[in-house]
Amino acid sequence: MQPQNPFSQQSPIPGVKHIVAIASGKGGVGKSTVSANLAVALAKTGSKVGLLDCDIYGPSIPRLFGTINQKPAISEAGRIQPIDRYNVRLMSIGYLVDENSAVVWRGPMLFKAIDQFIKDVEWGELDYLLIDLPPGTGDVQLTIAQKVPLSGALTVCTPQNLALIDVKKALDMFMRINVPILGLIENMSYFANPTTGEKIQMFPKGELESFLDRTKIPKLIELPFYTTLAKASEVGIPVCEGTPDSDEAKLFQQLAGILKAKLEK
Ligand code: ADP
Repeated sequence: MQPQNPFSQQSPIPGVKHIVAIASGKGGVGKSTVSANLAVALAKTGSKVGLLDCDIYGPSIPRLFGTINQKPAISEAGRIQPIDRYNVRLMSIGYLVDENSAVVWRGPMLFKAIDQFIKDVEWGELDYLLIDLPPGTGDVQLTIAQKVPLSGALTVCTPQNLALIDVKKALDMFMRINVPILGLIENMSYFANPTTGEKIQMFPKGELESFLDRTKIPKLIELPFYTTLAKASEVGIPVCEGTPDSDEAKLFQQLAGILKAKLEK
């Protein structure tokens, strides 16, 4: 039997229905891209959505939403106001310190900041609060996973074994503390040749499928490599906002539907 999450009795954030962590074993697999587009896709279904960027090693949410130089307002009562963009309420370490300085934060300072994000940000009523976790399974990730009353966790992974080794550790961390694993998102599964449609594997296929079979962790979706996704990160408009009828945006809309169905169950 798995040990009980010692924090599982912690009271949820008032007004927030579901908190979902988005994790990855490795950096650069597309965790923030998925978080940003999933948040916008959920908001477009009429849900109230917040996105908290806890990726201290590279807080990329301000960039992905084109809000790099914005600073959150503080209310008279001292509450931090999230930044509203594309109908998503955003908060990021990147809004509070410049992009390079959060990296040097260690233990207590970081936990204090995260605690503040949870308690002192005026999230208001939310159906979904997505948390973009830093990559890996260190103290920071573990503390967030334990301190925040999570409805569940999503993991993002590329197909090759190198990424699988690390994502296994992340999944193991959630399982140990009894956070439900909602599923895995395979990113950059392949690149479709624009003229022939032929699927080109960008990464050697590893043992991801057999691992998922064994553990009964569902693969929620496969996202191909789209040059538009990489471009969208640069211009600060997620594809779900900029080109909602594109194939890539439709995959995120599909993912949003899957997530909603799982959480409402
Ligand atoms: P992480 O948050 O895991 O570090 P990012 O979301 O920052 O990763 O993605 C890393 C880079 O890969 C970014 O430049 C992003 O635009 C690009 N990227 C992510 N997913 C895709 C995809 N499916 N197709 C094309 N580029 C992608």
